[in-house]
Amino acid sequence: MALHDLSRLLAQKPFRLVLTSHWNPDGDAIGSTLGLAHYLRGKGHSVQVIFPNAPSAPVAKAPGYDAPFVHLFDQDSAAAKQAFAQADGLFSLDYNTASRVGEAMQAELDAFEGFKVLIDHHQEPDGGYDHVYSQTSKSSTAEMVYDFIASDGGTLDVAAADCLLMGLITDTGSFRFPSVSAATLKAASALVDAGAEPHRIHERLFESNPPSRLKLWGRGLNSLEIIAGGRATLIHLTAQDMQECGYEAGDTEGLVNQGLGITGVELSAFAREDASGKVKLSFRSKGEVDVNAFSRAHWNGGGHIHAAGGSSEGNLAEILPQLRSTIEAYLTK
Ligand code: 5GP
Ligand code: MN
Repeated sequence: MALHDLSRLLAQKPFRLVLTSHWNPDGDAIGSTLGLAHYLRGKGHSVQVIFPNAPSAPVAKAPGYDAPFVHLFDQDSAAAKQAFAQADGLFSLDYNTASRVGEAMQAELDAFEGFKVLIDHHQEPDGGYDHVYSQTSKSSTAEMVYDFIASDGGTLDVAAADCLLMGLITDTGSFRFPSVSAATLKAASALVDAGAEPHRIHERLFESNPPSRLKLWGRGLNSLEIIAGGRATLIHLTAQDMQECGYEAGDTEGLVNQGLGITGVELSAFAREDASGKVKLSFRSKGEVDVNAFSRAHWNGGGHIHAAGGSSEGNLAEILPQLRSTIEAYLTK
C-alpha cells in the first residue's frame, strides 16, 4: 500500500481511531504508537491508544504515555473495549500477527468491524487488514511512521518527534544495527529539527534503571555458555533468579545482545523463565544466520532476520538441552 492512500483515507473526515501495539511494548512499540497518536490528534482525529500491558519504567516516560487517551488492556479492559467498540478504524503498529497482543485483546482485534491498518517492519505480516503498510527493510516502525508523516506533508510537534526518535534509538541499538540506513539517519535528523533531544532520550532510557537490572545482568552473564564450537552463546535466568534480584519489566532488555559481542559468535540466545514456569526466548544473530526462521521452526516465534523471539510452555530445566541442540543443529545444517 502506498503512503498517499493512507493520507487520502484519513483526509476524508475526522475519524475515531484506536491505535494499538504489542504485548510487553518496547521503545519502538510505544514510540511509534504515541508518535502517530500525537500527529493524528493534531490533524483533528479522535484517537485512543491501547497497549496490552505496561512497558518498562524508562519507556513509560515517553511524552503522552500518561495521557487520558492511553489505556492498558490488562488494567482497564472496560475502557479499552469501549474504545474498540466506538472506533471507525484500528491501527496495528509494530506487530505482524494478532497473537502478539495477548489472547484477551486479540479477541477485540478479531471482532473489530471498522477499517484496519497495519504499520509494521516484521517479517510475514498477517492478512485481514484493509491497508497493509509493511516494510521489513525499515529500522523501526517509528521510521515508518515518520515516513508517513513526511509524505502526508504534516508538521511534527515536539512530543511526536520525541516519541519517534525514542523508537528509532531503541530498535536500532542507538543507530548501530545493520537496519540503519541513510533514510533512518535523515529521519533522525528531521526529528531533532522538530525538537527531539537525543541526549535527553538516551538519559531517560539508559540512565534511569532500577538496581535489579544490574543484578540480573550479573546473574545472566554468569550463566553464559559458549556452544556450537564457539558460534553461539546461551544465557539464561531462572524464575528464582528473577525473584531474588527483584525483577522489574524491562530489566533484561538488551542482555541477549551481549553474547554477540564475542569474536566468532553468530547467534546469541537468551532464555528467561517466569514465575509460572513458562520461558520467554530472545535470539540475535549476525551475517547469514536467520533467527526469524530458526524461531519460527523451533520456538513458536518469529521477528526479524537478526532479532527474533519465541516462547515455550516447558520450564527452563526441561528446555535447555533442546535449546542447545536446536541451535547446534541449525548452525551446522
Ligand atoms: P525480543 O527478543 O526483543 O523480545 O524480540 C525481538 C524481536 O522478535 C522483536 O522484534 C519482536 O517483535 C519479535 N518477537 C519477540 N517475541 C516474539 C514471539 O513470541 N513471537 C513473534 N512472532 N515475534 C516475537
Ligand atoms: Mn519495532
